[in-house]
Amino acid sequence: MGCIFCKIINREIPSKVVYEDERIIAFEDINPQAPYHILLVPKKHLATLLEISEEDKELIGHLFLIANQIAKDKGIAEKGFRVIVNCNEEGGQKIFHLHFHLLGGRRLSDAMG
Ligand code: 5GP
Ligand code: ZN
Repeated sequence: MGCIFCKIINREIPSKVVYEDERIIAFEDINPQAPYHILLVPKKHLATLLEISEEDKELIGHLFLIANQIAKDKGIAEKGFRVIVNCNEEGGQKIFHLHFHLLGGRRLSDAMG
């Protein structure tokens, strides 16, 4: 059983890609929780946030810069948006390939879970 996000990266599974470069890909979430809900995914297979190391600092910084750029391009930056990483079971992680949710387009709840 392969990794579903690696399959999306390799185009073995279709997705609606909104951004891609050599290090990351961003595509629409299949089950959106807000009018705008995409996933930003490093192409490097890291199972969880806990797997990032010193060598990934540039990659993660790059991903946040692109998150900002996408939010601006989609016109949700000024009103506001949210970036979320779920880590491990109690954190609500379902897919074990590191990803960052970018949500916007509605007022998001104040609850932190
Ligand atoms: P997690 O709970 O692991 O943080 O989030 C996994 C996310 O991946 C969920 O929001 C879910 O809707 C999304 N997802 C799961 N399978 C697929 C898929 O095959 N394609 C896309 N585009 N999103 C998926
Ligand atoms: Zn993977």
